[in-house]
Amino acid sequence: MSANIEQSAENTLSYDLTDDLTMQVANKFEMHEMQARLVDCVKQEMAIKTANANAQTPFVDYADFCLRGLVFVKQDVYVYSVSGHNTKIIVPCEYALVLDVVRQIRSMPDVAQREQELKAHNYGNRALPEDIVLCLDMLPDSNLIPNVFLFDFHNPEDAWVRQTYQNGFISQAAIEPNHDVMFFVRDNDQYLFKDMVHEWAHALRDTLSQEDLNLLDAAIELERGYYVPLFYMLRSYAEHMAILAEHLLGTSGQLFIDMAQKAPVRTMAFFEVLRNVLGNEAHPRSICFDVIQKRLLHVKQAIAKRAEEFLADKQTKITALQKKTTMAV
Ligand SMILES: [Zn+2]
Repeated sequence: MSANIEQSAENTLSYDLTDDLTMQVANKFEMHEMQARLVDCVKQEMAIKTANANAQTPFVDYADFCLRGLVFVKQDVYVYSVSGHNTKIIVPCEYALVLDVVRQIRSMPDVAQREQELKAHNYGNRALPEDIVLCLDMLPDSNLIPNVFLFDFHNPEDAWVRQTYQNGFISQAAIEPNHDVMFFVRDNDQYLFKDMVHEWAHALRDTLSQEDLNLLDAAIELERGYYVPLFYMLRSYAEHMAILAEHLLGTSGQLFIDMAQKAPVRTMAFFEVLRNVLGNEAHPRSICFDVIQKRLLHVKQAIAKRAEEFLADKQTKITALQKKTTMAV
């Protein structure tokens, strides 16, 4: 009986908590406000990585894929500077002209007409540079990403992922070794920021000390098989961390709570390795910094105990196993 009461008290608490831990950004800014953040636009020529459609498959290895599966094509691009960030947003000119039309429609004051025209336009849902500005605003530290590209084609590296991971695989975003983030045929939907956080987490991983990497990867190992909401998490430690980040730093308070409760050790480790980013006041800070702080507090107050219990239980099992194996010898 008392357990039930405690249970319901916990549920009530987590219900209120969910709102508190949610990043409320939808319709927070008007279109013209975000447009004003694009302070400069320079046209330049750039070698853009594209797929070589004529390449024979399969590829022997990644080096072979890079050699035969990819081709760099010079294109004119617009490079947008963003007030408040060091990150540039880069769009091939041809695509930018199409997005200009979408921008005009989205700026229409008449809501009904705007919705109707967006629906009728083939590119009506596409993410504009302005939508990327909001994503940059929400990241814990946009400085980790030098450039964000918007492309009107699919990821040229998908062919390699399809060969080595899953047939029919299509990625919406990717990150280069220099931490440039690329979005492919990308709509401005509820997953745009999730994908941005995913790629950002890859960049963060590259900046971690060996000690922090060991801590995070040990936590992933310890909870392996306990809560893996996406199979893709098992592809590598890096992907595991990126999907953890999607949940722990995404907009949804509920997804944060789910992950934190079901993966307490990984959550503790993740927020631990995040400390340098959160403590760095010199870099651009998230407009949702207060929510991130509340999540951190929740981790300290509620999740730490869960992690402790999980580890103690593991230790008990290990000790019992050690006794048995010693007796067997
Ligand atoms: Zn990834």
